[in-house]
Amino acid sequence: MDLKKLAERLLPGEYPAPADYEALYPPRALGKGAEVTRLAPSPTGFIHLGNLFVAIANERIAHRSGGIMFLRIEDTDLKRKVEGAVEAVKNALRYFDVRFDEGAEIGGDDTYGPWYQRQRAEIYRAFAKKLIEEGRAYPCFCTEEELSALREKQTAEKKVTGYYGEYAVCRHLSEEEIYQKLDAGLPYVIRLRSQGDPAHKFTFRDQIKGDITVTENDQDVVILKSDGIPTYHFAHAVDDHFMRTTLVIRGEEWLASLPVHLELFSALGFACPKYGHNCSLMKMDGETKRKLSKRKDPELSLEFYRREGYFPRAVKVYMLTLLNSNFEEWYAKFPEKPLEEFPFSVSKMGKSGALFDLDKLNDISKNELSRLSAEEMLCFLKDWAEAFGSEEEKGYFRDEAYLLRVLNLCMGTAGKKRRKDFTTAKQAVGLIAYFFRKGERTDEYRIPAADKNAILRAFLETFDEGDDSQVWFQKVKQIADMLGFASDMKAYKADSSAYKGSVADVAEALRIAVTGRANTPDLWTIMQILGGEETRRRIRAELEVQA
Ligand code: GLU
Repeated sequence: MDLKKLAERLLPGEYPAPADYEALYPPRALGKGAEVTRLAPSPTGFIHLGNLFVAIANERIAHRSGGIMFLRIEDTDLKRKVEGAVEAVKNALRYFDVRFDEGAEIGGDDTYGPWYQRQRAEIYRAFAKKLIEEGRAYPCFCTEEELSALREKQTAEKKVTGYYGEYAVCRHLSEEEIYQKLDAGLPYVIRLRSQGDPAHKFTFRDQIKGDITVTENDQDVVILKSDGIPTYHFAHAVDDHFMRTTLVIRGEEWLASLPVHLELFSALGFACPKYGHNCSLMKMDGETKRKLSKRKDPELSLEFYRREGYFPRAVKVYMLTLLNSNFEEWYAKFPEKPLEEFPFSVSKMGKSGALFDLDKLNDISKNELSRLSAEEMLCFLKDWAEAFGSEEEKGYFRDEAYLLRVLNLCMGTAGKKRRKDFTTAKQAVGLIAYFFRKGERTDEYRIPAADKNAILRAFLETFDEGDDSQVWFQKVKQIADMLGFASDMKAYKADSSAYKGSVADVAEALRIAVTGRANTPDLWTIMQILGGEETRRRIRAELEVQA
């Protein structure tokens, strides 16, 4: 068969020679050991935690080694393309402080671009043409119907499904048959003519999983679709070669495609990059562990973390905890060091499923937030409220001096042991709402209404916002004594049956009346911040409800 003629018929025109491309995209001038890594998402509009997980690993490896991390957009599948998706990817990753050096909309060195696969059509065609000329690729005219009939037949015969060997009908077409079909104007795809043998297995060194056994590929996978656009597999081989990627860290769901990729690199005459297949994020569902699912788990979407107002560093710290087995220990030892100083290493990445647990993330979040200054907290909450808060919540930020007093109280004094009440911005803004309005009661009184009302009335009689906290507390104790509650905790513990309760119950009733909550920071300070008038107003309102 005249393969040159066939290649010209299938992909007419002059294409640059492989050597031209090699010169156009020369090996990168980087130091020894520098890794070039990438994130290569499809612009589907759904950027998820798995993307972030793998992005952080790639970013850390590149930058710790003095290398480069780039962003490539895999937009070969138009059906999945969503407007604004690239912006969404970029913003989401920037939010979590994943820094790219170059790539789509990044604005760095463009030598290795374009970064959108749809803009690289020529290079894929050039190499597909080369493969056809060399007899390593051929046109396939099979229709969808024929392919699904083939699949059914193989399934019925309990054979491996796919387009390979004897089943690959178009692989065996004569020159005459091919030209007949072409002349008839039948649409076609270009397939790899695989030379692999599934009876052959070999050992492959995965950077994360270690030595794994791989079976040779024998599938004649599609490399160019009927519209001349490459498949993921083919574009991956061409792009990672010419973008000079040295290490591909990607999700382990791609492990099954590894044999295809290895064959493609070899057919193209390219050296393979190193691969590391990263474990999937799992969660406990009752007794069983399963992969995080788009349908069932809102926490898979990165949007979830922004909407809920997770502190981005907390998410990053948790991801690093899951990514590198020695991170947690390092972080406990050096909580003040920049995360960049952690000696991230591929060898410490987990070989099997990482268990993702929102409770654990919440603990980390509380810790991270407790390390902010009140001013930093204000900025963080404000950013969240501007994007996601209600009109009322946005209003909390009008008087920043007031809000700072609130935050100072709710966070505790820096340097001392700090409170850890805040988990996310959304939850924190909800928690401080009582400083801005008398909201609904979230906790119930635990003492009878009559006692509670007596306490509130007695308090109103003696309350003076000018009292310091000691005088204020003396008055609360007096109310306790007067109404049959123990003001002395020791006496109460010695014989609790002699009292209606203790001064703690008295304070709790006051706390619930003023804030709606049984647990708050120091009540005297809350009353100072609210002011005497508002404090009285709230207590009176509480009495009126009961009247
Ligand atoms: N476009 C693929 C994805 O979104 C990229 C996989 C890879 O990293 O090679 O999962």
